[in-house]
Amino acid sequence: MIAVRGKAARRLGRIPRYPFADVVRRITELEAQGVDVINLGIGSPDLPTPPHIVEALREAALDPVTHRYPGYAGLPELRQAIAGYYARRFGVTLDPDSQVLPLIGSKEGIAHAPLAWTDPGDVVLVPDPGYPAYAAGALLAGAEPHPVPLRPETGFLPNLEVIPVETLARARLLWLNYPNNPTGAVATGDFFRQAIALAREYGLLIAHDAAYCDVTYDGYVAPSILEFPGAEQVAVEFNSLSKTYNMGGWRVGMAVGNAEALAALAQVKSNVDTGIFPGVQRAAIAALTGDHSFISERNAVYQRRRDLLVEGLQAAGLACDWPRATLYVWAQVPAGWTSADFAHHVLEQAGVWLTPGTFFGAHGEGYLRASVTTPEERIQEAMERLGSL
Ligand SMILES: *Cc1c(COP(=O)(O)O)cnc(C)c1O
Repeated sequence: MIAVRGKAARRLGRIPRYPFADVVRRITELEAQGVDVINLGIGSPDLPTPPHIVEALREAALDPVTHRYPGYAGLPELRQAIAGYYARRFGVTLDPDSQVLPLIGSKEGIAHAPLAWTDPGDVVLVPDPGYPAYAAGALLAGAEPHPVPLRPETGFLPNLEVIPVETLARARLLWLNYPNNPTGAVATGDFFRQAIALAREYGLLIAHDAAYCDVTYDGYVAPSILEFPGAEQVAVEFNSLSKTYNMGGWRVGMAVGNAEALAALAQVKSNVDTGIFPGVQRAAIAALTGDHSFISERNAVYQRRRDLLVEGLQAAGLACDWPRATLYVWAQVPAGWTSADFAHHVLEQAGVWLTPGTFFGAHGEGYLRASVTTPEERIQEAMERLGSL
């Protein structure tokens, strides 16, 4: 018999379990008991993918050419469509061959990036609170995530000036994410310029996650970091079709920017995956090159839901700002509660689930994240239940 010394690798012991799994189990239990749970915790776009994109997939699926293995670098037409989108949307010029890399959803690239860009023991600067894949990817690669706090005093932008010089000297990678999940904050041009200057000074690579760049409110327009001078020498931007085109289930995203960094990520990926289903790539081309008018209509739907959330949360005593982008409202728990205790209290007593801020890091303590991906009537009902707790 072959001796098996435990079936999970030691490195997994350093990675937190994805915290959503346990909550899903509790919500399922409550639902089995007949509780009508309103889940305001998840950030999955609930509106359908526009029909012209679905139609492109249907047609592509009927073409046997799409049934073969795709190439590693994505269809040339997809890389051109991504470059075209960046040119129109941000005024950023990208070489489709060297500065565009399609991904199987941006999370795939985010999680693999530290394998391409760091060595074991290198520091990876991650926002706290932040999207869990930044730290998890660093840990999987044997790198050392170093949390950079996002605090309300600085508009949930990291204070780059207080990162210790010794830490910067060991750091290879700085993650940024604006518009920001989970805080809903947006970044100024000055902040991006400052981050680029820091990266140049310390030889860091900036990885900017722009997944929410097209989910914006009140007329706000989110920039790409690549709009700012010098960015293409030090930055890669991750982007996604999931939020922009209501395509969370389709698994298609992109990394763009610094060519050397993208070549390294492509090398990792060519050893791990074999590209994106060509039917999905053709649908992505239809999305990127097609009619974008639905985006402002979709954002208007989200904005009305945001308004209901902000008003309802404030009325229930949970202080929060009006986010100008993202799917999220970041609200303070009442005094005397931790995030997790209050979230579980609200789930058990009101059948409403809001994500504890600590799911996104220790500096999320004191906050809950509410998402706009639920219809207005359900948000209204959730806010009424919260108000009468
Ligand atoms: C939703 C989200 C993504 C996008 O993930 P995909 O894998 O492209 O669906 C990336 N970053 C953040 C911060 C997100 O919230």
